Amino acid sequence: MKLRENVPISTMTTMRLGGAARFVLEVETLEDIPAAYSFASERNLPVWIMGSGANTISRDEGFEGVVILNKLKGLSVKTPNGLVDVRKIGSDDFGDEIILHGMGGEIWDDVVEFACKHDYTGIEALSKIPGTLGAAPVQNIGAYGQDVAQVLERVEAFDTATQKFVTIEKADMGLGYRRSRFNYGSEIGRYFIFSVTLRLKKGQLLQPFYNSLQRYIDEHGETDFSPKNIRKMVSAIRSDKLPDPEEVASAGSFFKNVYVDKAGADEAEAKGIPVWRSKDGRGKINSGWLIEACDLKGKELHGFRISEKAALVLINESAKSYEDLTRARTEITDAVFEKFGYHLEQEPVEIQEMNK
Ligand SMILES: Cc1cc2nc3c(=O)[nH]c(=O)nc-3n(C[C@H](O)[C@H](O)[C@H](O)COP(=O)(O)OP(=O)(O)OC[C@H]3O[C@@H](n4cnc5c(N)ncnc54)[C@H](O)[C@@H]3O)c2cc1C
Repeated sequence: MKLRENVPISTMTTMRLGGAARFVLEVETLEDIPAAYSFASERNLPVWIMGSGANTISRDEGFEGVVILNKLKGLSVKTPNGLVDVRKIGSDDFGDEIILHGMGGEIWDDVVEFACKHDYTGIEALSKIPGTLGAAPVQNIGAYGQDVAQVLERVEAFDTATQKFVTIEKADMGLGYRRSRFNYGSEIGRYFIFSVTLRLKKGQLLQPFYNSLQRYIDEHGETDFSPKNIRKMVSAIRSDKLPDPEEVASAGSFFKNVYVDKAGADEAEAKGIPVWRSKDGRGKINSGWLIEACDLKGKELHGFRISEKAALVLINESAKSYEDLTRARTEITDAVFEKFGYHLEQEPVEIQEMNK
């Protein structure tokens, strides 16, 4: 277990903001997890779990506690003879259905790449989402019509309340749009997810495709909807629209989309706001559209640029403090509220004191 002290959180998060963490512990084995929590409790310090910091914001005062970084690695396929490491297995054919078991510190996109390479459908539209496998169920990552809930079976976690390793089945995770029991409600921070199990099938993404994916398909005359090719298309769309976190500081979409009931969807449409309806009449309003309609797209606010390509994305061009972010966020949310009456909700989570 690697220990570091006084580490700037700006260097551990893609938004590159915030003060220092008192301690950072990198956990690499299962035994490291309870040991890391003991390290914190012996010093009466709170804990914050982190994967790769792609959805995490830190305040200027930093974190007077222990950041536990998930570095547990391993990706296996379940076979009749037990779990087999995909990087060591000789055969390339794993059957029509696969149970994929990955340790939480695996890079999410490596998992997607493996699935697509072997023609398994289910996560190809989630290509290139930055972050770790362990964080994927936390906000139920989603893009282009897929979300991880569609293929998730269970997670294994260290339960800080009971100090035990537990298994949590999908049905018990409270999964919704960018939501789960891990990021919403009274249990935030209770579970350290150390493994994730997915069930994937050979096949391909079914139509109707998500709008922007369909647009790409039409524009490029694509006819191959295999996982490999959908991955290629999604990667192209994303690299055109979304900043590469290696080069540009952002947390991806900074605001969640707005979900409305049927009456709300009717009302929004009557005002000329585009609504994506589900079969039961409820609707999704693209928050990027609302921001753009407030003439904010491409604008610079307190060191943050509202992306010219995707108005949901706030790029940290020159901001140095969380205060700058607060000002920029307030100007955007106020503008949208005044014009349309919707409260935009922030997507990235903020490091808070918990689990002392
Ligand atoms: C350029 C860009 C594009 C993005 N595009 C998308 C997108 O298309 N769709 C989408 O859904 N998201 C997107 N995101 C957000 C981000 O990629 C996801 O939220 C991702 O799952 C974050 O993974 P992470 O490991 O960096 O999590 P972190 O930011 O490190 O953590 C996020 C939250 O999960 C908790 N957590 C992390 N690991 C664990 C664990 N092992 N056990 C328990 N809790 C844990 C943390 O405490 C925190 O609350 C994007 C982000 C960026 C920067």
